[in-house]
Amino acid sequence: MWLKKRMIPQQWQAAKEVIKKIEHAGFEAFIVGGAVRDYYLKKENNDVDIATSAMPEEIQTIFSQTIDVGIAHGTVIVLDCGEPIEVTTYRTESTYSDHRRPDTVEFVRNLQEDLKRRDFTMNAMALSQSGEYIDYYNGRQHIDSKVICAVGEPDQRFEEDALRMLRAVRFAAQLHFSIEENTFEAIRKKAASIEYVAIERIQVELSKIFISAHASFGIDYMEKTTLGDYLHGNFTASNWAHYYSEDRQVGWAYFCLVNGSDLSLLTKYRCSNKDKLFVKTVLDAYESLRNGMSLVDLLRYDTIVLKTSFQFTIWQNCKLELSYEELVGRKNGLPIQHVNELAITGKDLLDWSSKKRGSWIKQTLDAAVEAVLNEEVQNDKQQLKEWFYAFHDEG
Ligand code: ATP
Ligand code: MG
Repeated sequence: MWLKKRMIPQQWQAAKEVIKKIEHAGFEAFIVGGAVRDYYLKKENNDVDIATSAMPEEIQTIFSQTIDVGIAHGTVIVLDCGEPIEVTTYRTESTYSDHRRPDTVEFVRNLQEDLKRRDFTMNAMALSQSGEYIDYYNGRQHIDSKVICAVGEPDQRFEEDALRMLRAVRFAAQLHFSIEENTFEAIRKKAASIEYVAIERIQVELSKIFISAHASFGIDYMEKTTLGDYLHGNFTASNWAHYYSEDRQVGWAYFCLVNGSDLSLLTKYRCSNKDKLFVKTVLDAYESLRNGMSLVDLLRYDTIVLKTSFQFTIWQNCKLELSYEELVGRKNGLPIQHVNELAITGKDLLDWSSKKRGSWIKQTLDAAVEAVLNEEVQNDKQQLKEWFYAFHDEG
């Protein structure tokens, strides 16, 4: 009944089968966490997790194909039902002396205990295979009133795990929900403890904020909760007012831009070299655009880079003389679309000259590209040869 078309059918069908088999063996099992929240929100979620009263070893006896991914934490992946489904034994978490990891994990037979350790009420619901909600902490009511509310005592919950504070802001940005007052106050109070959290996990949450539907709303919370004060870079919501992107690299590039084009932020947040290269290219293109982009630059930057850097000028309220369509029109109208299309190569230059190999070859080829782009010479081998001799006579 509850299996509607809007869901990823295979995942949900598989989850339902897994639950039935666990129940048949005499245990409890429910869909839990983000999938239940998103189901209630009528949003797609293809990450369906199951919680169960069965111990990991019991799950391994019920199913024939399982992968042991973290038995110590109670997680087994079940492959029997077509799609891999994560099944985790109900557990509680004890003291958190380092503000980020429970000292020990204890398995329990009671669902409510398991739901109690979860971060926010909307993430602490369970769904039975027949479509019934188990909602001890008013998750649905909070979703209806669009609030993010900690389960239990917010101060204590953020004391246990400081990452939850950033997760609250991330969910606010994704869902455009406000953070409930006591939860918000607790974040403000505990904001400094975000420094205990591993930088990689912070990077993941920031990336999610940057690609959220309401990124600037999230950045506003970074400011208001003061969380941003304890992280690298500035989080100033006014800079993000016009921003929107579904691409995390674009988000990181914009974050660097509004921080004075500070590329060192990418190193601080352990972004990949690929990210660094993209961000550097986009920020270079942005500078070039603002200074009236040369034809060589127009040729050099690909459409994604041009589009992104052009977006940045809009988000930064920086007026350019030409529209994006005009810019692309100009790019498409260039005599060549790629340096590879130049009608001559380094070998031609060596044939035409008595000089030895050296940096002059690249310099000359660059100059030839520029001359072709400026329509000083046509992209034709014979004409470029003449241009080369003239160029060399001058030089
Ligand atoms: P997403 O849609 O981004 O995956 P999610 O809510 O599913 O969001 P996950 O990180 O996949 O987030 O975690 C799954 C569930 O585990 C959460 O819904 C929540 O119940 C619980 N959870 C995750 N991280 C924490 C945490 N730091 N503290 C408490 N509970 C957590
Ligand atoms: Mg999830």
